[in-house]
Amino acid sequence: MNRTEPPPPQHRRLAAAPGRPEKRLAGIAVSPGVAIGPVFGAAEPEPEILRHRVAAADAPAEGARLEAAVAQSRKQLMKLRARVGALPEDSQVELAPLIDAYLAMLGNSRLLRGARRRIAEGLQAAEAAVLAEAAAIAAAITGQAGRDAAAEDRAGLRRRADEIHEIARRLVRNLTRAPFQSFAALPPGAVLICESLRPADAALLDPARLAGVAAEEGGADGHTAVMLRALGVPAVLGVPGLMGAMRPGDVAVVDGGAGTVVLNPSPPRLAAARRAVTAFARERRRFAGLRRLPAETLDGIAVELAANLELPVELPLIQQAGAQGIGLLRSEFLFMNREGLPDEDAQAEAYRAVVEAMAGAPVTIRVLDWGGEKEIEALAAAGLVPELADTNPALGLRGIRLLLRETELFETQLAAILRAGAAGPVRVMLPMVTTLAEVRAAREIYERVGRRLRRRGLRLAEKLPPLGIMIETPGAALSADALALEADFFAIGTNDLTAYTLAVDRGESDVAALYDPLHPAVLRLVQFSVEAALRMHRPVSVCGEMAGDPRLTRLLLGLGLRSFSMNAAALPRVKQAVRGLRIEECVRFARRVMEQADPAAIAALVAEA
Ligand code: PEP
Ligand code: MG
Repeated sequence: MNRTEPPPPQHRRLAAAPGRPEKRLAGIAVSPGVAIGPVFGAAEPEPEILRHRVAAADAPAEGARLEAAVAQSRKQLMKLRARVGALPEDSQVELAPLIDAYLAMLGNSRLLRGARRRIAEGLQAAEAAVLAEAAAIAAAITGQAGRDAAAEDRAGLRRRADEIHEIARRLVRNLTRAPFQSFAALPPGAVLICESLRPADAALLDPARLAGVAAEEGGADGHTAVMLRALGVPAVLGVPGLMGAMRPGDVAVVDGGAGTVVLNPSPPRLAAARRAVTAFARERRRFAGLRRLPAETLDGIAVELAANLELPVELPLIQQAGAQGIGLLRSEFLFMNREGLPDEDAQAEAYRAVVEAMAGAPVTIRVLDWGGEKEIEALAAAGLVPELADTNPALGLRGIRLLLRETELFETQLAAILRAGAAGPVRVMLPMVTTLAEVRAAREIYERVGRRLRRRGLRLAEKLPPLGIMIETPGAALSADALALEADFFAIGTNDLTAYTLAVDRGESDVAALYDPLHPAVLRLVQFSVEAALRMHRPVSVCGEMAGDPRLTRLLLGLGLRSFSMNAAALPRVKQAVRGLRIEECVRFARRVMEQADPAAIAALVAEA
């Protein structure tokens, strides 16, 4: 849910803890708004260990699981280690030795030797082996501390025991793939601070209780960022050194527009942040007045502004924003944070609720887009997908590729969507399409599901609701003219299109500077797709994050687009932009942009427009 009220007012009473110096950290601006609140360091939950023992025949596989978790933990720590190098020297001095100590424990350490032995000889499951060995080592260390060490050695030994617990927790988290679920303890109005936040974890956040989010990892258009924007929570991701800088009791100011996090703000900075919170709330109220005004350019061209939906709690804001439909319903939420897969009835019910709430406005439901960073445990538990860590998920069995292999999963979802179509207009959209054959195969299955439902007595029109595709790979964009022969509509997914064109992971802070939707290569693909769609008389929209950036509205209109789908909070700003533009001027602007070869020149043109 996007927040409809200003954040809770308790920040008025907050002040920096006495004696704590102000620390200003920079990251990636991800979700606009300013949050002020006490920090809440997301503690990882006690991992749920389902199995404690394994059969003798399974011990080698269990050992391999442990080694995979060790490799993954190493990778995570090496990444953190590299980031520490970019910090001010005093932070480096604090953090680097700690990470080195963790890394050493992932080498030939007593912890790992013991855990391996417990698996091979004691037939313990990997999680149980790691925890038991860590507990045994820590008990030995702290026992020694109690017995015969001097006071300062005692503190050092206790620290060492904590480090062992910490690395064991990381290993177990990687073994169990446990999400953060400790949000229940989040005090109202707090700022959530964590190392990384997975999209599935972000989906669990209650925006009404949360002031803001800051995390060490993450990129601007990763799914976690998309989710936080959808929730309307001010957020900054990719903030190196955040966890090391934060102390319990700190107050934080998160500026999701500027991409900064200030811990223990000075009184003047706190006062400025309070003014920003008030101004943001005032701006929202002003935008509410735009709701009933048409999305029309100064020269009278109508533009369709729809909303993206990633969680059902967003519906009230989507309605309030005056969205002309849902241009992208990301159905992944139905599959996340649950043990089993949702059946046809459960899915039909969920889609119907959205379709009914939209009261006659069209709802474009995208079928499941598993892969990339969109990890869904229930699919792995059902044996339908490999563990993401074992594959290259962005280039693997993602989106339509999985659905064409697991046709039962696909058919169940299509049947649920067609049933929901009885409540209002729906469209079906396929993710991650790269070939014409995929669209043909999907359409065959779609028609088959339609026939089956008719046999079951469902009244379906002769012509099923439109079946369209996402254009989100360079392959799809460059064959858009051919794909238009089979697809009823296009939605350009600029998030993945940028990632795949520039070979940059969307959620990866290390390469965030290379992620640039204004790169001429990306814009040329958008232009090519739009022109193909217009030639073939296929409706085309943009539903990636570019659609919700009012600075880009002029360019996208100039490229021929007339339909946008975005997070609902962005809609009023884009409407305001549309209402201030003339198409002729947009076309001229787009022409100038498309003449540029240098992304920096394009960024400059967009900034000055
Ligand atoms: C996109 O890739 O631009 C898109 C809208 O899909 P998602 O962000 O869900 O991958
Ligand atoms: Mg995508």
